[in-house]
Amino acid sequence: MTRHGSGLDDETLGFVLDTLKRVTERRLGKATRLALDDSEEFPIDLVKEMLGPEIGLHLLFLPEDVGGLGGGARDLFRVSEEMARVDLGVATAFLAIALGIDPILVGGTDTQRAHWLGRIAEEGWIVAYGVTEPAVGSDVATIGTVAEPIRNGCGDVTGYKLSGTKQFITNGGVARLYTILARAPGGPSFFVVERDRSGVSVGAPEHKHGIRASNTTQVILDGVEVPADHLLGLEEGHGLEQAKQVFGYTRLMVAGFGVGAGEEALSRTIEYGHDRLQFGEPLYAKQGFTHKLIVPHAVRLEAARAYCEEVAARLDGGEVGLQAEGSVAKYFATEAGNAAADAALQGHGGYGYTREYEVEKIRRDVRITTIYEGTSEIQQSIIGTHRWRAVVRTKGGFYREPAAELRSLGPGGEAASWAAEALADLILAAHAMRLPREQWALFEIARLVAEVETASALVRKADAAAPPVRELLEPCAQLHAAGAAREVAVTGQRLARARDSFDAAAATELCGRLDLSRALAFGAGELDEMDRVAAALAK
Ligand SMILES: Cc1cc2nc3c(=O)[nH]c(=O)nc-3n(C[C@H](O)[C@H](O)[C@H](O)COP(=O)(O)OP(=O)(O)OC[C@H]3O[C@@H](n4cnc5c(N)ncnc54)[C@H](O)[C@@H]3O)c2cc1C
Repeated sequence: MTRHGSGLDDETLGFVLDTLKRVTERRLGKATRLALDDSEEFPIDLVKEMLGPEIGLHLLFLPEDVGGLGGGARDLFRVSEEMARVDLGVATAFLAIALGIDPILVGGTDTQRAHWLGRIAEEGWIVAYGVTEPAVGSDVATIGTVAEPIRNGCGDVTGYKLSGTKQFITNGGVARLYTILARAPGGPSFFVVERDRSGVSVGAPEHKHGIRASNTTQVILDGVEVPADHLLGLEEGHGLEQAKQVFGYTRLMVAGFGVGAGEEALSRTIEYGHDRLQFGEPLYAKQGFTHKLIVPHAVRLEAARAYCEEVAARLDGGEVGLQAEGSVAKYFATEAGNAAADAALQGHGGYGYTREYEVEKIRRDVRITTIYEGTSEIQQSIIGTHRWRAVVRTKGGFYREPAAELRSLGPGGEAASWAAEALADLILAAHAMRLPREQWALFEIARLVAEVETASALVRKADAAAPPVRELLEPCAQLHAAGAAREVAVTGQRLARARDSFDAAAATELCGRLDLSRALAFGAGELDEMDRVAAALAK
């Protein structure tokens, strides 16, 4: 079943983004953002206004047949990015609503979808998604919340009694409806649970490092009885599969958070670098400022954006099963966003460490993005496993085919093509050496996958771009692709020799194939490319 619509037209998306900008400028100015962060207050009135009839932001997450706008993956990514530029705490409240809606969207019967989604669309309910538990985080399959069937005199199941505690639930204390993963006799299953049911209670809001304007609480289910039709899909045991089906979309939303927060931090630093004079000139005139704190992060954020756009277009085109792509998008974009925010704080010097300049808030807020919706390590595990299998199954064709196409493209094409072929060689050799049995090696391969795939996406985007965007994207593509080639060669050689017990002949053969001097040659003119990026960003 298609989860969302194929997307809004450009005009409607533009209208949504304009509306969002107007509301956040009016209601979420700097003083309000800092005050909410300071007091750890969830801005319930603002969120309700955004869910109200005039704005109806939640309608973006809902298909047209239930009264929504039928937003697609591109729309979700763009809106997430823009919201993250303003306040990641408020953005997180909307992510949680999208997450909470998802199990109904993908798992509900037509009647359940029409009933619950129709009410959410019409009445603007705040929804929450309850999967995590105090003792169960990444290993979702082991959840302990139980759903015990209630039977009538004839033995038919008429309802379920839910008992357990959900941990770290965004919107937990303010939601009207929860989608809860619980263990029924047939396996983990999603249930809809209304807040006002007897036995539902919530804990105190968590005191958090960042996104302090979001509401995060425990949700406690103490023998909560729900009718049998609150089991989504009316069949037990489909919960984990339903959770997986939506990852392409929700992980892309979190990727949008990484890109948006990172870009905001960076653009503030670029501006600051022009205003702040030290040693008789603006900081931005210092190569060590731009080429260390700005350029590398701008390159990675452009790469993240290019990759997310490609994944979104594929999802909107109806492709399914893009779990690894959702993981690459989230992993790469959120790590890039974190690194950019950290550099932004550094670039503001002592002022960056104060609350006034907000980059320290962005730094704290964006930190969550590598943790929720599956940690970076869980993403690396998914990416490594999926790509290892795909490369072995296709005997390397998975990367060799796109490599042939990349070779003919503009800046970075040759480097990205070489990196993709080298990665195919590396994964095939690693398979023969049984390297992926070592989780560290699998994670390193996942890191290389993300470098190579984002480099390829950026090369394609730069090749198709028109001026003036091209002026920025071309050197970014060249730098990122050269970096990917270097990383594959260096890391591949390290992996080949990582254990004394590895087959020495196989390791030598792999190292020979990962020609380091060839890989390093792609970096020729690196400083010139960095100068071009710094100049393009200054415009
Ligand atoms: C602010 C906030 C909001 C949240 N909102 C929600 C929500 O709305 N709904 C919801 O259900 N959950 C929510 N969560 C929970 C969040 O998704 C989990 O915290 C996250 O999935 C990680 O689980 P955990 O905290 O139990 O960490 P753990 O799973 O215990 O992991 C701890 C560390 O071990 C690593 N690790 C775990 N497994 C492996 C492995 N197999 N191999 C290598 N390393 C591993 C992790 O990457 C991490 O670094 C939220 C959390 C926070 C902090």
